[in-house]
Amino acid sequence: MGKVYLTGAGPGDIELLTLKAARVIKDADSIIYDRLANPDILEMAKDGCEFVYVGKEDGRHSMPQDEINETIYQTALKCDNVVRLKGGDPFVFGRGGEEAAYLFERDIKFEVIPGITSAVSVPAYAGIPVTHRGVAVSFRVVTGHESPNKTESQIPWENYKTDDTIVFLMGLHNLSKISTKLMEIGKDKDYPIAVISRGTTTDQKIVIGTLEDIVEKAKGIPTPALIIVGKVVQLREQLKWFR
Ligand code: SAH
Repeated sequence: MGKVYLTGAGPGDIELLTLKAARVIKDADSIIYDRLANPDILEMAKDGCEFVYVGKEDGRHSMPQDEINETIYQTALKCDNVVRLKGGDPFVFGRGGEEAAYLFERDIKFEVIPGITSAVSVPAYAGIPVTHRGVAVSFRVVTGHESPNKTESQIPWENYKTDDTIVFLMGLHNLSKISTKLMEIGKDKDYPIAVISRGTTTDQKIVIGTLEDIVEKAKGIPTPALIIVGKVVQLREQLKWFR
């Protein structure tokens, strides 16, 4: 029986891969990867390594999670070194915990190799620090996949009245509902918000706006994209360095 490395691929820029991830990728007999992981990473693999694509995007799964779990398990039964490569960090909305639990229940050894999450690095490449002295003392990373109109929402919207930074992942299709909800709980219509698409790559696009006009401004922006809300967004004016 082999071992599975639940590995973070980082947000897009291939140089944001960790040394540890690079080592296990070079040794891998099989790499099971997502759409979000930069495909150039696969070129580091040794000859004969098999590649299995189980991509999913924005919460819409092209392969159901239980099939992904089973694929990883079956691969571990026949290969020594299995890399399960995921965009960003495997435990930040990556369902890496579910995959690890599935392996644990089947006595398959695994290791977790954290990756640089898009939640922090994508804003950084846009010149937006998620915390900043005197501006934001904390940041939250929230799923944007759940509609804010859902009854019995698990998201504590009422807590989001403060100036702490909020990063929404998987939220582009709910941008209008999210910005409306934030105004409903009392945030000003001029409150700063940004949408960052394909962050850390040469395709990176950033739209800066307010809760009121962001939907109009961000129309047509490609995925993957994240939403960042907070006064830190205004720091981009001084801190923009990449594009
Ligand atoms: N485990 C990943 C997140 C998976 S959820 C991580 O730690 O980064 C997928 C969401 O991440 C996307 O819907 C998008 O909101 C965000 N995302 C991932 N890569 C991104 C990128 N390069 N630019 C902008 N958003 C990105």
